[in-house]
Amino acid sequence: MNKQSQRDGVLFVVSAPSGAGKTSLCRELIDNVQDLSQSISFATREIRAGEQDGVDYHFIDEPAFRDMISDHKLAEWAEVHGNLYGTSITTLKQAALDGVDLLLDIDCQGAAQLRKNYHQGVFIFILPPDMQVLEQRLRDRGTNSAADIQRRLKNAHGEIKQAAWYDYLVVNDTFAAARDKLTAIISAERCKAQRNKFLLNQFHSQEF
Ligand code: 5GP
Repeated sequence: MNKQSQRDGVLFVVSAPSGAGKTSLCRELIDNVQDLSQSISFATREIRAGEQDGVDYHFIDEPAFRDMISDHKLAEWAEVHGNLYGTSITTLKQAALDGVDLLLDIDCQGAAQLRKNYHQGVFIFILPPDMQVLEQRLRDRGTNSAADIQRRLKNAHGEIKQAAWYDYLVVNDTFAAARDKLTAIISAERCKAQRNKFLLNQFHSQEF
């Protein structure tokens, strides 16, 4: 049960093509939305400057990751840009036990696996305003080669096709507007009657 409201925790699953602004938006939500925790994934990629093991990801090598797959320890996993990423079942179970709302920043393949297995999740897809803006944002980063940008744009077309089955589409035209929409989605989902039936108990027990 959720510590604040006695309701069950909610899984907020966020996906987007590379360059759509998902990482910054998710960071903003974690910093500013109360009672929302980041799910920390397992990843086989190299740790980047400024990242911390156990904070940004649990960084492990590929054999250890493959062991987690064969031991059925992952709720979902996928290969993204040549590296393996996954969410552990323990992370989701612990959040459910503690009633914690979790934010999962994961790719479409992993989101589809969770959609199949965890029906109560809320699935949000962040879109760029259009493909030209996406390309420009990837160029402006200054960290991706021309070939890498083309690969990411090609992948983006495939990912955006997946967006149709998500519960919400949020266009990241301006950061503030996208942040406000995401915050509103989280608030509305938290108020859903089916998650908050406990609120009615006191009224049912009163006689008038
Ligand atoms: P990065 O290496 O830039 O942090 O992340 C690369 C991509 O991997 C992002 O699209 C991110 O959403 C995705 N990703 C991160 N963690 C997970 C995870 O646990 N599962 C899946 N399926 N994708 C993930």
